[in-house]
Amino acid sequence: MNTNKQTVNRSAHVLAQKLYEEGINQQAVLDAIASIPRHDFVDSILTHKAYENTALPIGLGQTISQPYIVAKMTQILIEQGVTDRVLEIGTGSGYQSAVLAKVFSEVYSVERIKSLQWQAKRRLQSLDLYNVAMKHGDGWLGWKSKAPFNGIIVTAAASEVPTELLYQLSDNGILVAPIGAGEQNLVMFKRQGDNFIQQALEVVRFVPLVPGDLA
Ligand code: SAH
Repeated sequence: MNTNKQTVNRSAHVLAQKLYEEGINQQAVLDAIASIPRHDFVDSILTHKAYENTALPIGLGQTISQPYIVAKMTQILIEQGVTDRVLEIGTGSGYQSAVLAKVFSEVYSVERIKSLQWQAKRRLQSLDLYNVAMKHGDGWLGWKSKAPFNGIIVTAAASEVPTELLYQLSDNGILVAPIGAGEQNLVMFKRQGDNFIQQALEVVRFVPLVPGDLA
């Protein structure tokens, strides 16, 4: 595939159009998808699949999420009034971080695999996205020193509700996470004081949020 700038723009625009047809209607999200070269976030042998609406392997048993779900999770935060201070758990390729960086003013992202975190950091730098802070760490613990966050998205499936993350939300903050070990549900939590209002949104499929040690 010819990946000169025009071709990339066209492919990314076509992808954004597809997502619009699937219910993504926040212009900021569509603009972000249309402007980010997703092929930069996958291995060059997968370039020809980079603008398909599918998850793809990024090595070490991990995946770059399906564009629809990246867009959907971002859209949920916007719909709930989040504008800044967003934490992502599971940086992976950095693609979701890049989308968040285009939409929200301050983004934080935690990844447990050092080599993925490092590559993601370089990708964002090469796209001149400097409003994302990244950390190598265990996402179950969030990023306490930077809390509170107005929005948190978890991009790996948590076997149980990640309580620590709930308490890193600001009041009225929103957490969106796939929850479940077998079948996973995308669940939204809204903080109201020390109460959390929970709503299951749709069935999803993510790689697991690994407990404990760093790799
Ligand atoms: N948002 C990513 C999706 C990556 S897949 C993207 O757009 O490409 C999920 C990622 O979560 C993987 O990179 C995996 O290493 C990471 N992960 C799994 N368990 C984790 C944990 N406990 N803490 C931080 N990251 C974790």
